[in-house]
Amino acid sequence: MQDTLRDKGLRKRLIDKLRERGIQHESVLQAMTVVPRHFFMDSSFLSYAYKDQAFPISSGQTISQPYTVAFQSSLLDIKQGEKVLEIGTGSGYQCAILLEMGASVYSIERHKDLYLSAGKLLTQMGYRPNLFWGDGYLGLPGYAPFDKILLTAGAPNLPDELIKQLKIGGKLVAPIGATKLQTMTVYHKISESSITREEHGHFSFVPFLPGKI
Ligand code: SAH
Repeated sequence: MQDTLRDKGLRKRLIDKLRERGIQHESVLQAMTVVPRHFFMDSSFLSYAYKDQAFPISSGQTISQPYTVAFQSSLLDIKQGEKVLEIGTGSGYQCAILLEMGASVYSIERHKDLYLSAGKLLTQMGYRPNLFWGDGYLGLPGYAPFDKILLTAGAPNLPDELIKQLKIGGKLVAPIGATKLQTMTVYHKISESSITREEHGHFSFVPFLPGKI
């Protein structure tokens, strides 16, 4: 794993582009400047690592588009030391961004090979994530409650179990919708019985599927 001057230059250009597209959250941009996205991609796609595009990883899944990672991370607004649950570890890239922002990250992936490869890579990079092979629909009741929860797969609707595992005052960011395009939705848990929601435009994610494989 090498992060050359050329990679760093391409990454800097990508960050400039994200700023132009309206991303203003400095600690998100800083984390994305530091984390080499090309480490998380198949070697045949390395030249695409710093284009603002989603890309195939193994198991028929994708690494999210940089703009989407920046957008979701900005909505989450991570503060140092917060406990965050990510659903859909995938390549581990979004997980690395959250870790770089100082979160304590718990991340679940339903594909065993992705769970294993993300764990290996993040450990090699010196991160200490808490990764789980399991069904994100169930969350991680044994580790709840979380300050923030992030879904990185498109869910037809918000699973009650995940809202239960959010702290009061906490925030959950999820692409919601049963079709190809989902609405980026932010839920705020005001009390055990009161949740507010805001919508932030349309995105396209791989589907949130039940069970683990
Ligand atoms: N955050 C990832 C994006 C991966 S795409 C990254 O930065 O690369 C979404 C991921 O969600 C896929 O890897 C998919 O396998 C996973 N996923 C879908 N349904 C899931 C479920 N019920 N539980 C856990 N992971 C799930």
